[in-house]
Amino acid sequence: MKNDRDRSTRADSSGWAEKPDEQRAITGPGEAYCMSCGELIEEAAAMCPRCGSEQPRAVDSRSDRSLTERRQYELEQVATKSRIIGMVLGFFAPPISYVYVNKWGWALLNVFTLNYLLLGFVIVPLHISNIISNAKERLRTAGVGGY
Ligand SMILES: [Zn+2]
Repeated sequence: MKNDRDRSTRADSSGWAEKPDEQRAITGPGEAYCMSCGELIEEAAAMCPRCGSEQPRAVDSRSDRSLTERRQYELEQVATKSRIIGMVLGFFAPPISYVYVNKWGWALLNVFTLNYLLLGFVIVPLHISNIISNAKERLRTAGVGGY
């Protein structure tokens, strides 16, 4: 029961999605957020001392799973985009859909290769969807909550 309460408290504070900078404190070296309740804990901890949930990252905390602040910010910019809007844009205006998910390089490539005249209208929406999914997946892997 205690775990449930902790999780719901966490869910209540989900307003951070709109203003990540305020709610997301910076983790110092050796610190990490609990995958479950978001408590700041030791990175090497196998369990969260607050809610008791296991911390998958403890398995190999030396891998490159952790993100730099800047990289995390970039991923969040993409992960919070709407997949529906991205795919609709990808269908009707491929270059703009890439800009939507901050992939300026792809946008330019798309313009220069005239990709949208070929199979762009099929491929681009899927690509956009993948870009957003991958950003979310990457954040999850790094232990960033909410994705
Ligand atoms: Zn926890």
